[in-house]
Amino acid sequence: MRTLLAFLALLVTATAGQRPNLLVFLVDDMGWQDTSLPFLHDAEGKPVVTDLNRRYRTPAMEALAARGMKFTRAYAHSVCTPSRITLMTGKNPARHRVTNWTSPTGAENGDNDVKHLRSPDGWGRTGIAAGEKTLPALLKAAGYRTIHCGKAHFGSRGAFGQDPKAIGFEVNIAGNEIGHPGSYFARDSFGKGSHHVPGLDRWHGQDLFLTEVLTRELCGAIETAAKDKQPFFAYMAHYAVHSPFQADPRFAKNYPDLPKPQQAYASLIESMDRSLGDILAKLDALGIAENTFVVFLSDNGGDAPIPNDKAAPVVSGNAPLRGKKGMRYEGGIRVPMIAAWAKPAASHPAQEKLKIPAGSHHDGFVSIADLFPTLLEIAGVSGVPSFDGHDLRPALKGGPATRPQQLVTHYPHGHNNDHFSILHEGHWKFIRNHADGMTELYNLASDLAETNNLASEQPERAAAMSVELERQLDAMGALRSKRVEP
Ligand code: CA
Repeated sequence: MRTLLAFLALLVTATAGQRPNLLVFLVDDMGWQDTSLPFLHDAEGKPVVTDLNRRYRTPAMEALAARGMKFTRAYAHSVCTPSRITLMTGKNPARHRVTNWTSPTGAENGDNDVKHLRSPDGWGRTGIAAGEKTLPALLKAAGYRTIHCGKAHFGSRGAFGQDPKAIGFEVNIAGNEIGHPGSYFARDSFGKGSHHVPGLDRWHGQDLFLTEVLTRELCGAIETAAKDKQPFFAYMAHYAVHSPFQADPRFAKNYPDLPKPQQAYASLIESMDRSLGDILAKLDALGIAENTFVVFLSDNGGDAPIPNDKAAPVVSGNAPLRGKKGMRYEGGIRVPMIAAWAKPAASHPAQEKLKIPAGSHHDGFVSIADLFPTLLEIAGVSGVPSFDGHDLRPALKGGPATRPQQLVTHYPHGHNNDHFSILHEGHWKFIRNHADGMTELYNLASDLAETNNLASEQPERAAAMSVELERQLDAMGALRSKRVEP
């Protein structure tokens, strides 16, 4: 009997050792074009190198994409907290009801530009609700070490989700209720007061940048998990490339011709990319790269400090996309995304089950919600209801899109764009603006920059998409903007 138990214990240990590690590398406010890796492809499927691709340097992203798959049509919410909670729950923001970013104090945020509309009563103003089944909690229960590193922004001060440990992270490095750092510099203690980055005291006063410090912290936590022979879920949620636009001195010199804020922004991007490269190198050095699945993405559209081009005022720092973070246009919600094994191997048990074609790209529609079921399945945790996320493994194996080519984005608040809901359906995009009822319809296949509103030209399509949008919002229990006396 004792021999049998010992044998079973050994078997469990061996199986645990084979379970793949998971690394989610989430960048804050990084745009679809904030990289040297082209995410725009032409009708023949060939990558199109844009001006912004030529501006930025992200060799680690290029290397990761060469090892796996690039997603050219990946979407997140238009602002931070909703996307982050969607990643953690697999629920559309309309369903989890944190439809706007949360203020650190829990106060109502957003502006009041629309005199007769306000945020709905009962929206998740203080962040993630207790009782949600979360990705880290499920993985922790399955034996994973769950490591949070960087920006959390799941809930406000004193609320349930303020500390990432509340939602299932065993280790929390530097995350709390804040949405951006007071400072990127260790010599400034990463900011004073309300936006001080917590938990990094041992680095204070040194000549180091926040992105580098977080990288070293995460590499240390990964090394500990590897030594303990425990599979891990590492969530590397950088504070970069969100404002304040402070230059990383290691990289600013590479952009001598750019105006100051743009030079700083480019250095934040290259610094973030160096972090990716360093973490991948660490996985390799530890001998666990073949057994580590990596997903890279951003939490909303880009917010680059690039003025609009006067000749084409609808195009911004996300060109050729229209708009920026917070907006209903593609520049607000389309994000870069890459998935790969950290080191492809011809024969490896985990990779045998999920062979990702090297240097490939997938042009089907995917959502940040899809990470929830996909990561759980890769970890061997099956049967968890995923609500609005869909398992991406068929696409990752090089197959055609199997998830519905539809997505609802719901924003009943005031911000860069006020009170809107969107339905994407294949290449068609329908927008309802709740303030004045104005509708927009774009064919993204022929009009990626959303310059030609076809709503009045194609009223039947617009009406059908409007009905489908309302149906899906109702099905998710979406809260609507509240009407008030102007
Ligand atoms: Ca963000």
